[in-house]
Amino acid sequence: MIPNTATLLQLAYGRFAVGAFSINSIEQILGAFRGAAMAAAPLIIQISRRARQYAGPGVLEAAVHAAARLFPEILFALHLDHGDEQSCYDAIESAFYSSVMIDASQRSFEENIATTRRVVERAHARGLSVEAELGRLSGKEDDIAVDQSMAFLTDADQAAEFVERSGCDALAVAVGTGHGLHKFAGTGQLHLERLIQIQQRLPGFPLVLHGASSIPSEEIARINAAGGAVAPDAQGFPETMYLLAAQRGVAKINIDTDGRLIWARVMREHLRDHPAEIDLREPGRVFVAEYAQRVAHLCQCFGCAGRLAEVRRQLGWG
Ligand SMILES: [Zn+2]
Repeated sequence: MIPNTATLLQLAYGRFAVGAFSINSIEQILGAFRGAAMAAAPLIIQISRRARQYAGPGVLEAAVHAAARLFPEILFALHLDHGDEQSCYDAIESAFYSSVMIDASQRSFEENIATTRRVVERAHARGLSVEAELGRLSGKEDDIAVDQSMAFLTDADQAAEFVERSGCDALAVAVGTGHGLHKFAGTGQLHLERLIQIQQRLPGFPLVLHGASSIPSEEIARINAAGGAVAPDAQGFPETMYLLAAQRGVAKINIDTDGRLIWARVMREHLRDHPAEIDLREPGRVFVAEYAQRVAHLCQCFGCAGRLAEVRRQLGWG
């Protein structure tokens, strides 16, 4: 594990983005490592505050570090996703993590700065980096649901002031994407011009794209053909746009929904096709392989595939 995620993001900056994959189970952990190995890509594994509550503090984290020993060549960072102040402090003290995200984007500008500043001080003292968020994405992230009409884009001038005053190391920006199955439900499209404005005000500073799963229509069709009722009008982030975003300063791209879709498809097809089976390891094995394929494919799209040796060298890992 690298101790500080921002170091990795600075190496990626302007050239490629590192995939940050949300995990909730050992199958996702194994699939993420296997996918990164297939793509020869650096990896960010992220655990949300809610995933941490689901598994129990330290359970997923220990599994990540155990799985990492099966993939000794893989360079990875472990990140707390959408933390509140207390879960950030817990993660910082646990010594499992490379970075935390403090999400105070629902609060006022001044409160967001003050909260982020407090987390930055604690994190930096322990060698971790901090991602913060400014602006508001549409959709649902664990327990936070944001109505489409409440979503708004990140202001470029405010972003520059926020980074300066909060001391954060990476900033999640709202440029049109949303959490969940409808990536452009809030403001209707990806606002590339806004991303460019933010980059111009924050040259060299790593930006983060949340709500950026690709939502393959084939996955939705297969889920629904196997008895599902997942939004047939779901819309993902166009795969051809990932590299464009990376060139505009996006150094970290978060992927959660794509993993959920693969889980739903694999489970539904397995239970449909094997009605007498009760062994969870059979669909589990299929999921690990399919998720690994998706992770590897996304790493290609992000431009981080094949970068492992280069990044290891740059970090002095030989
Ligand atoms: Zn998010």
